[in-house]
Amino acid sequence: MIQLKNLLGAFGRTLLLAALLSGSFVFAAQAEEEVGPAFAPPVTKTVVPEIGPGMGLGGRMVVVLDPGHGKTEGHYSGCRFEYEGVTYYEDLITMKIAGYTKAYLEQHTDYRVYLTKDSAEVTVPLDQRAAFAASVQADLFVSQHVDSIPGNGTERNAYGVSSMSPAVGRYNNEIACQSQEAANTILRQLNALGLHNRGLLLKDSQNGTLYPDGSTADYYAIPRYSQMYGIRGFIIEHGYLNHTSDLTSFLSTEEHYRALGEADAKGIIEYLEKAGKAPRLITEQTGPKPGMS
Ligand SMILES: [Zn+2]
Repeated sequence: MIQLKNLLGAFGRTLLLAALLSGSFVFAAQAEEEVGPAFAPPVTKTVVPEIGPGMGLGGRMVVVLDPGHGKTEGHYSGCRFEYEGVTYYEDLITMKIAGYTKAYLEQHTDYRVYLTKDSAEVTVPLDQRAAFAASVQADLFVSQHVDSIPGNGTERNAYGVSSMSPAVGRYNNEIACQSQEAANTILRQLNALGLHNRGLLLKDSQNGTLYPDGSTADYYAIPRYSQMYGIRGFIIEHGYLNHTSDLTSFLSTEEHYRALGEADAKGIIEYLEKAGKAPRLITEQTGPKPGMS
């Protein structure tokens, strides 16, 4: 974790430069979900026999939770919304949700659970978050966010939970299929709380970025890097901060954050108990090269 923080300054500047150059830097509040250096580096794959539930190398499941955003140059970088005199920050909410997910998993399972960062006061570049998940051989990598839409979410009728997941039928297809199933399992748990389920949000690269096999890359950074590293990974959006109903019913109290975090944990357990450990891809870990495109 300390190493990640030390990398922040230089990588953060590179990230911003890459974002500006990519032409997809539209809304600041959404930027972290969408942009970043084009790729983690290609991995050299060696197929290892698949490991069944509760068996094999090490045995324990590994879950990496990624609390979205964090303070950058003195400002929270996620979305925010002021309602009845209170300002709600995505950066603070995602940290709380991740904390409750971790606590629930540690209480109810023997999984190894890691967070990509431990405070809303810092951020970590997206490629480094994914690199960390790959380095601990995550069986599931879940990036936890809260949504918003430019303008007023209530007036624009934008509400509910969704997941930015990798598209299937191309690079690392098996991993993409598993990521989608895991994401849908978590979304069903959130839906059971009463949140509308918007489903999977799949989006292709808007600037022609390709995976190493020549197939179109995913647009959102977390699923794209996850595909590159061969790990199950995606973003979960926990409702709209600027939709009054989502905010007051699901996103404004400590009990709300606990419910969201525990719903994520239940979805993670439900998926991993069924799917088992991820197929292991032995990789040459050369580390991502921010700015490479
Ligand atoms: Zn976000």
